[in-house]
Amino acid sequence: MAKFTTSALQVIAAAFAAVLAVPAPLTPSAWAAQNLVVPDGPYAGDKFNPSPYLVEPLDFFSDECPDNKCVIRKSAQTGFSLMAICAAGFTVDREPCRLMIVQPTDGALSDFNREKLQPAIEHSPLLRRKVRAQTSRSSQGSTTYSKRFPGGSITLAIANSTADLRSKTIKKVIKDEASEYPADLDGQGSPHDMIEARYESFRATADWKELNISTPTIKGACYTDAEFEAGDQRLWHVPCPGCGAEFVFEFGKNFRFERKYPYNAHYIAPCCGTIIESTQKNELVRKGRWVARNPEPGRHRSYHFDALSSPFVPWDLIAERKLLAGDDPSKQKTFDNLTLGVAHEVRGDAPDYARLMERREDYEMGAVPAPGLLLVAGCDVQHSGIWYEVVAFGADKQSWSVLHGFIEGDTTDPERGAFLDLVKVYDRQFPDAFGAMRQIDALAIDAGDGGRANQVYAWTRGRHRAFAIKGMPGWTTPAIGTPTRVSINLKGKKIAGGATLWPVGGWTLKATYYANLRKDGRKAGAETDPPGYCHHHLSCDEQYFRQQTAEYLKIVTVRGRQSRLWHEAGPNHLLDARVYAMAMADYLGLNRMTEAQWAELAKSRGTPLVLQEPDLLAPDSVKIAAASRPTLLEKQPRRRSITIRRI
Ligand SMILES: [Zn+2]
Repeated sequence: MAKFTTSALQVIAAAFAAVLAVPAPLTPSAWAAQNLVVPDGPYAGDKFNPSPYLVEPLDFFSDECPDNKCVIRKSAQTGFSLMAICAAGFTVDREPCRLMIVQPTDGALSDFNREKLQPAIEHSPLLRRKVRAQTSRSSQGSTTYSKRFPGGSITLAIANSTADLRSKTIKKVIKDEASEYPADLDGQGSPHDMIEARYESFRATADWKELNISTPTIKGACYTDAEFEAGDQRLWHVPCPGCGAEFVFEFGKNFRFERKYPYNAHYIAPCCGTIIESTQKNELVRKGRWVARNPEPGRHRSYHFDALSSPFVPWDLIAERKLLAGDDPSKQKTFDNLTLGVAHEVRGDAPDYARLMERREDYEMGAVPAPGLLLVAGCDVQHSGIWYEVVAFGADKQSWSVLHGFIEGDTTDPERGAFLDLVKVYDRQFPDAFGAMRQIDALAIDAGDGGRANQVYAWTRGRHRAFAIKGMPGWTTPAIGTPTRVSINLKGKKIAGGATLWPVGGWTLKATYYANLRKDGRKAGAETDPPGYCHHHLSCDEQYFRQQTAEYLKIVTVRGRQSRLWHEAGPNHLLDARVYAMAMADYLGLNRMTEAQWAELAKSRGTPLVLQEPDLLAPDSVKIAAASRPTLLEKQPRRRSITIRRI
């Protein structure tokens, strides 16, 4: 038997000690400050330096903290998005267990992994050593969506996948952007309930953890907002530089700014009236602390943090965003959610149809009014015919109902019956105010409801101004989303990938339309017609207005959770048609075009602007190239240019 020298034994003992020694206790925030390298953003590559307000919520994630559930309702640009990475890194190194991180969609999940989690692992030496390489072929190795390390794993899951949410037991979960999770998964229940079921076995020992980090969405329909309210509601209090009293920076009455650049945003301390300049904000926020507004026993931890207190958002920028949002409902929602970190209140009652009828205007049906630079249409297909509305939109989003109706006829054959008559609407020449004729720039036709999907696909095929659409639920669904290729099945014949189907986010469009319908214009005694104002001609009758206002928002409780859903009070086909037309206007750039682009379009339409600039003559035909829609362009599978012919 070989004999070790004393010194060799000492070396071995020291080596074992180094391996076996329990590291000194460290909170997750202290761990992150020592070990985490920031994966993205302006500080990418630097050691993480947690802002003071991140420390307490982060330290919740350690087993040392007895609390189980924590909800963070936040605006964008607050630094909270790195919290999930800090908590995950701490878990890998200090408290290994089975951790699941849930993202709302497949896209969000791959972005999170590619831009945040994987770079953090690769650039933080401690994590790189512990997390098993993805290239390893053994079952012990990591995969893209499962990171393995000694004593545990991180599983990445999607909130709309029952398969993801129903696999193995976990001890801790991080729910990212939970406000965007679906309310119900294919009738099988709430994703939140499925996630809870996975840490059920840790309830006995009460050492499970659930961390929610999300921006809110719609009041009454937002998981994060409801969970914040149900919690102890911790708010970041700062000390007053005038008298030392503590208060919270809130957007309400004490935040002041001028309506013109440079805005001079400042805050008036509610305690003693001391004026706090924008330059003092960060110093005061550093000196702040969390105080619970509702510290009753039994409530879980909940935090609110927004741009007013964020060191990353100057107050003048908040003022500018507020002014830019104006009275546009979709911009107001964005401002409330992403800047103020609060849920947006949608008025859900239907506008009064009788009042709308009283303010009809005497303009010609079937003609495009002077400001109507975009001409769009929406169609709702039924078994017995097709409802449609043609709408003109101006640069400030005012709209004019141009033509509407019901094309009675069979809809089983895309080349006969009502579809044949729809071609007349599609091809129709609409006179404009300048002696030219115009066609519909984009027409949306519903393939989702009515059981006529294949007929709609076949009808839109080859008609490049027609779009087969499908209404999608949800308060975060965009007006028009990324299209998919679909097959056409008609009369036993199948054309694979024969058509393109565009998802339309009708919920928010409906809310926007109703908010615009409620606006008062000149007919109600106002000086001007405000942006977004809706004009109707005298031939819009009671049936038209009843259909336009046929829905209201209803608060429903699905498996114990509140949601706000549109509910039909009567036939609503013309409301659907209007919403689809609005989606087309959005597609063409209504909500994205710059002033210069509108001017260019106006010029091409021969509006009076051209008369002011006689050297810029309107061409006979103009292409609004797909290039004028940069945000959509990136998503489009193939480019589509809309040709608008003038005669
Ligand atoms: Zn004071």
